[in-house]
Amino acid sequence: MQSEGLKLILSGPSGSGKGTIVKELIKEENFVVSISATTRKPRVGEEHGKHYFFKTTEEFEEMIAKEELLEYANFCNNYYGTPKAFINETIKSGKDIILEIEVQGAMQAKSAYPDAILIFIMPPTFEELQSRLIGRGTESNDVIEARLNRAREELLAFKEYDYIVINDNLEDAVTDIKQIVQAEKLRSYRY
Ligand code: 5GP
Repeated sequence: MQSEGLKLILSGPSGSGKGTIVKELIKEENFVVSISATTRKPRVGEEHGKHYFFKTTEEFEEMIAKEELLEYANFCNNYYGTPKAFINETIKSGKDIILEIEVQGAMQAKSAYPDAILIFIMPPTFEELQSRLIGRGTESNDVIEARLNRAREELLAFKEYDYIVINDNLEDAVTDIKQIVQAEKLRSYRY
């Protein structure tokens, strides 16, 4: 019988670099990233079904009503949530699934999956976070301000997580996460 994959929940404030870390991780065969639903508008280059399932508020609320989401949260005036179906299939296939989600949703996902491994990606300093968020140029000034305020709150949640990874250097952060995964597999005989 195929053994189940790990459930990795990665959180960290906007600008912590968690998206880039996930991109590196999924280059490895055994990692699969969960595709979330959101009511946020697509950024340039983002594709429906690849980066997110882009939904209207009505569509999203219907998913909530039909209990199709493992977890969901409101982040800076948009809904974000994890569809259950894909996760369940991935877990059964033995692949390790990564949920890249904010803190409130991470706590809900942890209740649903007590064996999930929670990893918090920490920026080296708040100033660095600020300059990354401004530098990437994907959001307006108002949105950047709202995300920085949210980041201040999210940074307080790190104690709820099993592991803290400081993203000072991308390669090191990715290595840290791979080592966490390796250790967790040995710990629970999940090979
Ligand atoms: P962004 O708009 O930058 O893509 O994402 C904003 C925040 O929403 C990030 O912290 C991201 O991790 C989080 N997020 C993305 N998908 C989900 C999801 O399915 N559920 C929750 N709770 N948060 C999500």
